[in-house]
Amino acid sequence: MSDIRSVCTLAAAVSMLACTHARPSSVGVEPGRVPASLYAGGADCAGGLTFHVYAYDADFYILRQAACTSFEKPLLYLLFGRDRALLLDTGDKGADVRTPVDTLVRAWLARNGRAATRLVVAHSHAHSDHVAGDTQFVRRPATDVVGRDTASVRAFFGVRRWPDDIGAIDLGERAVDVIPIPGHQMASIALYDRRTGILLTGDTFYPGRLFVRDTAAFARSISRLTAFAASHHVTHLLGAHIENTRTAYRDYPEGTVDQPAEHALDLGVAQLVELDSVVHAMRGRMTRTALRDMTIWPVVP
Ligand SMILES: [Zn+2]
Ligand SMILES: [Zn+2]
Repeated sequence: MSDIRSVCTLAAAVSMLACTHARPSSVGVEPGRVPASLYAGGADCAGGLTFHVYAYDADFYILRQAACTSFEKPLLYLLFGRDRALLLDTGDKGADVRTPVDTLVRAWLARNGRAATRLVVAHSHAHSDHVAGDTQFVRRPATDVVGRDTASVRAFFGVRRWPDDIGAIDLGERAVDVIPIPGHQMASIALYDRRTGILLTGDTFYPGRLFVRDTAAFARSISRLTAFAASHHVTHLLGAHIENTRTAYRDYPEGTVDQPAEHALDLGVAQLVELDSVVHAMRGRMTRTALRDMTIWPVVP
């Protein structure tokens, strides 16, 4: 990324136009909106809502598990293509995830004059707060639940060499790239939705505590993800949790349920470049380090 920075710095000295001109084209990326707040509520489950649902656009939904059912408050994503829908993650235990997903699918089918569509259930990675709802989908008709281990993920998305190659899934007029990013967990992946330019980054990159279990793999994954972002039009980087507050460098204590002043969900490529630069400078000796919007948090096995 130092190359890109130097190109832009040089360009700025000559003409702002030159830097703008060097960026990838945005033609074809559909606009949408990430809500400024995705507040997951407090400890009281009054009203019975277990997931909060937000539309990025008519074919892309953000679901957030209510805080009263899990302090993790994971974020799930549901994308609709012409032929199939894809659900990324099924949440932590203690919540009905099937009902909100089925409600969104029914509404989409009605809007599009369709009788049915297949559903692919995939995972950003295999940790329990992202896969606990799988049991609610195993017997769902017309549904493919992708296995959680690396071999299953590789096979399903056609990743030839893990983690260096990129896999893909075509949902029908909606191509999604699958980028292996082990480090937080062995089977971690990022998804790049070419239609919206959204990069879904799971627990590997989000405004919170980036738990790193394999430091060497994590460093390589962040580096490859940064290279990917530099060569594609990325509109938002959306992860699977929010743990930082709106105050720079400060996260909520671990296990916090109610987060009324939490950080916005979406991050930009600049924060990814910053993370890559800091991780690279650590040269394999990773230490707990707070950045403005996230904390690098190595976990001793
Ligand atoms: Zn995780
Ligand atoms: Zn998690």
